[in-house]
Amino acid sequence: MRHDAGAEGPCVAVRVPAKINLFLGVRGRRPDGYHELVTVFQTLSLYDRLRVGLIGPPGQGQHPAARRRMRLRLWHDGGATVPSAEDNLAVQAARALGDAAGVIDLAFVDERAARRALPDVDPAATPYTVLDLRKGIPVAGGMAGGSADAAAALVALNELWSCRLDRDTLRSLGADLGSDVPFCVVGGTALATGRGTALAQVLCRGTFHWVVCTTEQPLSTAEVYRAWDAHCDANEVQPDAVLQALRNEDAEALGAALHNDLEPAAFVLRPELAEHKAALLDAGALGAVLSGSGPTLLALSESESGAAAVADAVASRFAAVSVAHSPAGGPELAKG
Ligand code: ATP
Repeated sequence: MRHDAGAEGPCVAVRVPAKINLFLGVRGRRPDGYHELVTVFQTLSLYDRLRVGLIGPPGQGQHPAARRRMRLRLWHDGGATVPSAEDNLAVQAARALGDAAGVIDLAFVDERAARRALPDVDPAATPYTVLDLRKGIPVAGGMAGGSADAAAALVALNELWSCRLDRDTLRSLGADLGSDVPFCVVGGTALATGRGTALAQVLCRGTFHWVVCTTEQPLSTAEVYRAWDAHCDANEVQPDAVLQALRNEDAEALGAALHNDLEPAAFVLRPELAEHKAALLDAGALGAVLSGSGPTLLALSESESGAAAVADAVASRFAAVSVAHSPAGGPELAKG
């Protein structure tokens, strides 16, 4: 933890990477409404940054006794599609951590709605936790931006509030916030089953180079799963070829093995995505795949310069293209 000039109290900064699915198999719909998945997650070098700080009477918020009441504020630069209130996943994560760590009366203060303080909280006596979120992960792009922010909030506030919960506990708290959150807490490369929350770390050698292609219009994850229910059948395709390619540091084999069962569903909703995928392969990519529930498309190249060449060739088709690498570690606390 460090004390920043300009901030009134201690603050902690966390950088958290996006996730991609190198393999996503949908085994069917479960009685609880979730889908049964087999997926290989990996982190990618596009990052959100979350800075959390305490403002208030000196020492408040760090001592467990003073943590009983806390006001919470959120700032972000993600635009209108990123929620600014209680429904932001970072705020939900703060609440979950607060409950687990014994912070009671965590009052969210919605500045935009001009609710400066909630009536049952004395602003003079109650410390503020301020969350400052900078988005670098495309929103609603199938790259788990919201889940990454939830993971960042768990990791950062665990430090700021001196909760001393270990990563396994943070991971279990994350599972209640969203299926991708446990992986985002851990990062690296993992095989996940169930609704995506049962994780086993996977050996990955080397670095892989990607072109990340985003489109203007987002795709809702729920809508893509509904399209899968309507148009697709469960199958038993296995991730073995992906796992072997990762072990062998074999980009060519990985390109051939990339697989996402949600692709046909997303392509029904956005037929142009199938054409974009074909264009990525024509431009020389080793493989291309829809990222999670899309609409982001990922293309794998043999090198960073190869990825840049593919990016140039397809740039006019997309709202934005960027080059990134994987794996990209997990949430990192800024040293200072
Ligand atoms: P999912 O995790 O549902 O697959 P995604 O990876 O496609 O989603 P996200 O960037 O997580 O995309 O955004 C999905 C939705 O989550 C957004 O449309 C937004 O309404 C909501 N959301 C909640 N909190 C956040 C956040 N911190 N950042 C981005 N979106 C958020």
